[in-house]
Amino acid sequence: MNILRTPKAMADWSRRLHREGVTIGFVPTMGALHDGHRALIRAARLQCDALVVSIFVNPTQFAPTEDLAKYPRPIAKDRALCRAEGVDICFEPGATAIYPEGFETVVTVPGIAQRWEGDIRPHHFAGVATVVTKLFGMVRPDIAVFGQKDFQQAALVRRVIEDLSLGVKLIVHPTVREQDGLAMSSRNVYLSQTDRTLAPILYKSLQAGAAAIKNGTTASRQIQSMMTQVLRRESAATVDYLAVCDPDTLAPLASVSERAVLLGAIRIGNVRLIDNVLVKRPAKRGRR
Ligand code: AMP
Repeated sequence: MNILRTPKAMADWSRRLHREGVTIGFVPTMGALHDGHRALIRAARLQCDALVVSIFVNPTQFAPTEDLAKYPRPIAKDRALCRAEGVDICFEPGATAIYPEGFETVVTVPGIAQRWEGDIRPHHFAGVATVVTKLFGMVRPDIAVFGQKDFQQAALVRRVIEDLSLGVKLIVHPTVREQDGLAMSSRNVYLSQTDRTLAPILYKSLQAGAAAIKNGTTASRQIQSMMTQVLRRESAATVDYLAVCDPDTLAPLASVSERAVLLGAIRIGNVRLIDNVLVKRPAKRGRR
């Protein structure tokens, strides 16, 4: 595995491989890699000839009050995971390489970015859309794998790829969970021991909503109130949002007819957790 640090080295490598007819797969990350990232890397590995993983803690997607400075950066461990998974290039640019002096272009996706995470973290998705567009420009991937864990982010990236004709095939990999259902996340290490035992409540609440839909409940208000009831059992958790949405636009649904995504974000202690569940209502059986 090679480690590349500059946009030019990355772009030169990718240009050379494309000339040789090699397909390039890409998994962008902020490092502190866990089994969720590993699953994305494995999924990508199966779909391409050469695989790039980027490790870049992107400052523009953090608000000044957020955890940029203390975000975990176990770089030796991350490289070892990449090496073990057959990654060809670990791309580790510094912040000044990505945002040199004079940098001013920002990619915004107002529709998808304004809700849910975007409402609570107003500059977050412009930071994500901009850095993903830049990284795509350097890596020039044929395919890119993102996690369903960050559902709104994946929807945003899909929009950017389509709107800017970036020609990248997007693969969204299902969320990888701990045994008790908690979605794996680099931020789970911030949870105290007690809070860690409470954290699966978010997924439990989303599952309760999904079960209600499968059992025939269609009104979003009712589904939401069921999810809220489950979360209320845990007084240590504060709800940021629990929403029943259209999986493509992320607009809230008044009622569920076919497909929906249940999005949730809570805070336990100082840690924010987000999660989601995609639901498809069982098709009605026709009369014989
Ligand atoms: P991050 O390093 O948190 O920016 O995440 C990098 C990529 O890994 C994103 O596409 C995330 O959605 C994905 N990811 C993070 N956690 C998980 C998980 N538990 N399961 C699946 N994908 C994940």
